[in-house]
Amino acid sequence: MAKILVVEDEEKIARFIELELQHEGYETDKAADGRTGLEMAESGGYDLMLLDIMLPQLNGLEVLRRLRRTSNMPVIMLTARDAVMDKVSGLDMGADDYITKPFAIEELLARIRVTLRKGGSKREEGESALSACGVVMNVAAHSVTCRGQEIALTNKEFSLLQTLLENKNIVLSRDTLLTRVWSYDYIGETNVVDVYVRYLRQKIDDMFGIRLIQTVRGVGYVIKDEMP
Ligand code: CA
Repeated sequence: MAKILVVEDEEKIARFIELELQHEGYETDKAADGRTGLEMAESGGYDLMLLDIMLPQLNGLEVLRRLRRTSNMPVIMLTARDAVMDKVSGLDMGADDYITKPFAIEELLARIRVTLRKGGSKREEGESALSACGVVMNVAAHSVTCRGQEIALTNKEFSLLQTLLENKNIVLSRDTLLTRVWSYDYIGETNVVDVYVRYLRQKIDDMFGIRLIQTVRGVGYVIKDEMP
């Protein structure tokens, strides 16, 4: 059975989560501050970490940022109600999911099951995964997901997104995108790029409430690690 690390400074909540997890058959450990949590996580041996954001010593986002230098252990963030920025930052920094406090224990258990399943397959995918803003592309499997939900893309949409993700944080002009994605000297209008960016925004941004592809006026498009 999976071993879960609970990093939460509120003793009552931590104890409650531990009891419920143990009841489900998980092994658990807990840490009451960020520094201890990070050390325990880095020592390995855990299949998943539940990570509160407001923690003494190191906050949850900082714990996550440091952990991600060396580990892709699945992490579910525990966030305060309506802390939208925390959720966005957490996903940007590589959290697998988040749950808003107060939560129903059944929902937490469901998310743990999903994340553990996903985490297993993510490790097998290895290097071929590209990601930004919570969107994960597995080139080998030709799949794109956001928060674990599959996004169906056409071949051209997929290539365009792949090119932007492979050049993350670099602004690509319409001409560059045309050459790389359509791979021939496209006679006619470069606005085919704009059209396909619009398709991607409809399928990803509009569906998941994020801003993945940013327009750089007069230049082109870019996907950044952080949303504007
Ligand atoms: Ca807390």
